[in-house]
Amino acid sequence: MAAGGSTQQRRREMAAASAAAISGAGRCRLSKIGATRRPPPARVRVAVRLRPFVDGTAGASDPPCVRGMDSCSLEIANWRNHQETLKYQFDAFYGERSTQQDIYAGSVQPILRHLLEGQNASVLAYGPTGAGKTHTMLGSPEQPGVIPRALMDLLQLTREEGAEGRPWALSVTMSYLEIYQEKVLDLLDPASGDLVIREDCRGNILIPGLSQKPISSFADFERHFLPASRNRTVGATRLNQRSSRSHAVLLVKVDQRERLAPFRQREGKLYLIDLAGSEDNRRTGNKGLRLKESGAINTSLFVLGKVVDALNQGLPRVPYRDSKLTRLLQDSLGGSAHSILIANIAPERRFYLDTVSALNFAARSKEVINRPFTNESLQPHALGPVKLSQKELLGPPEAKRARGPEEEEIGSPEPMAAPASASQKLRQCLQGRAVS
Ligand code: ADP
Ligand code: MG
Repeated sequence: MAAGGSTQQRRREMAAASAAAISGAGRCRLSKIGATRRPPPARVRVAVRLRPFVDGTAGASDPPCVRGMDSCSLEIANWRNHQETLKYQFDAFYGERSTQQDIYAGSVQPILRHLLEGQNASVLAYGPTGAGKTHTMLGSPEQPGVIPRALMDLLQLTREEGAEGRPWALSVTMSYLEIYQEKVLDLLDPASGDLVIREDCRGNILIPGLSQKPISSFADFERHFLPASRNRTVGATRLNQRSSRSHAVLLVKVDQRERLAPFRQREGKLYLIDLAGSEDNRRTGNKGLRLKESGAINTSLFVLGKVVDALNQGLPRVPYRDSKLTRLLQDSLGGSAHSILIANIAPERRFYLDTVSALNFAARSKEVINRPFTNESLQPHALGPVKLSQKELLGPPEAKRARGPEEEEIGSPEPMAAPASASQKLRQCLQGRAVS
């Protein structure tokens, strides 16, 4: 589990750099200012959260199989050898008494400021179904999770920083999508069908046609988020367990435009992701639809593991394009984002094997190196009229050659999205536990 020697470290850094070169080297006319300096590395941060027993009586007869040692480490029984325990160390360990505020303030809030520097950030909740991912990300009315807290803070921050008289004008937009059975579905416009993931000439990942709603207050956020969450609930009821098989991705973009010369513009993207349950469904003996869904357990989650391994081993090819989720996260894992993975685990014995496998995935993830950079360019009017050709939008031929003969896009094109329906209070959504 410990980090390898300096050679391995160098190989990892080289792999991250070459992945960035392949994905990002562009001859765009919207030049990246200051992009010549190599950005400093930032390791993916990994936190583990152990939830309490949810059935009040279980704890008494069934002691937890995980034990926290300090604020960064924990141990779990070794089922192969009962005399031994397996020990793990992470950036943070949150025990069963930790509050939503502890997790938010300790692991999420510190990365939000990077969005205002034009950098990307992402928060991923990982772990088996029932271990507390949705509780951590969404929470309840009494205990709001990462999503409402982050939105509240981010909107406040952008209001202050973008106020009249400040050098930059700021705007925030949100998109909300679900990846289910390798389909990218717009939760703000469920009628739009499977969406395509593309990459522009600057290495930015885009989903053309994905709804993007401007939000300037928390009420705006609720207005879009709540009906969208209900869209997920409908699916979950109809398809039984669908939401634990799908990845819910909330994307918040912060756009900044400098009010005076040289009229720079910056964009920071925040991904808040409630991943599908990481349990191995082959072992749990699922049948019918669930078995189909878990053909490769869940393709995206399976490839996520392969991406993490490829980055760790410094392999020349990182299989981002093998799944929708990893393609979307290309700039968040071994890419340009400040990333935090929150591995959620449960204390009950029946979760034991899934807990060990989630901890092993978390331990591998903390070796991944990102290189966050400021996504800055000149505003189009400062450069004079710029019209990008289709070819430029798709990226330079060298970059394409470097990528090999793989597809430029995943999925099928879809029309533009329609506006979202009526608004409701976040409280109702949380009460309804819209996303399981
Ligand atoms: P997942 O999204 O990983 O499938 P949930 O977030 O739905 O799991 O959690 C499963 C159950 O455990 C829910 O009833 C949830 O309210 C509860 N729960 C999860 N984490 C905690 C926690 N830290 N404190 C209290 N209850 C929790
Ligand atoms: Mg859930």
